[in-house]
Amino acid sequence: GRQETVSALPHLGSFQSMRSEFPLIGIFGGTFDPIHYGHLRVAEEIAETISLRELRFVPAGVPRLRCAPAASLQHRAAIVRIAIRGNSRFVLDEREVRRHGVSYSVESLRELRREMRERAILCFVIGADAFMKLAEWHSWRELFGLCHFIIVARPGYALASNLPQELEEECAQRWVSSADSLKYTSSGLVFIAPTTLLDISATTIRAHIAAGKSVRYLMPDEALDYIAANHLYSGEG
Ligand code: ATP
Repeated sequence: GRQETVSALPHLGSFQSMRSEFPLIGIFGGTFDPIHYGHLRVAEEIAETISLRELRFVPAGVPRLRCAPAASLQHRAAIVRIAIRGNSRFVLDEREVRRHGVSYSVESLRELRREMRERAILCFVIGADAFMKLAEWHSWRELFGLCHFIIVARPGYALASNLPQELEEECAQRWVSSADSLKYTSSGLVFIAPTTLLDISATTIRAHIAAGKSVRYLMPDEALDYIAANHLYSGEG
């Protein structure tokens, strides 16, 4: 089992002396091509479990490590906006839309840290499939100095038991088993959030739409209306 190792982190604990509680802000990055109930439900459960003040969805521009998204960043961001409407804790963060070009999460997190003037604790929400590949990301080790990681399980991806060695070593002293630990340190912890397993992927949604099949109940109706109105994913638009 994982051990509670907060106290074993010498370079952390910058908030520990203050004992004050800074708000936790969730950051959920992704291509969101398109956003679906897998993302939305997990986001809702995490917001509740770790008492997030807000959760920011950050649609990525051109990801460096995967093929180009099917829909433009503007469309993907518009679908996120529609999908999160009515949830007062969910926010669309368009910084990667404005930045253009290749998206690096580390840049967004650096910016967010600056904007929050250290008065918030950033929690980066990431699926187990994506976390497994973290060591391929640009400046990945720096991320541990900027945010905590909130890992969500995903059907078909066994986590942690078989992390790549580099990542396993980096995380060795960082695992925490209680969401409460996240409040007392500014960054650098890794928490596996208990969430409902939903086997929904954007890939399946795109394939269904292209094949003229229904994707109803896999994502919000209003978001589907937007996709239909703009002929996205149909192979025509
Ligand atoms: P694609 O099928 O195009 O690869 P996706 O459905 O995996 O897309 P992304 O936008 O790539 O969606 O995912 C953004 C983040 O959300 C990633 O960290 C990913 O692991 C996570 N995620 C996506 N779908 C789920 C799901 N059903 N359950 C839990 N996490 C998910």
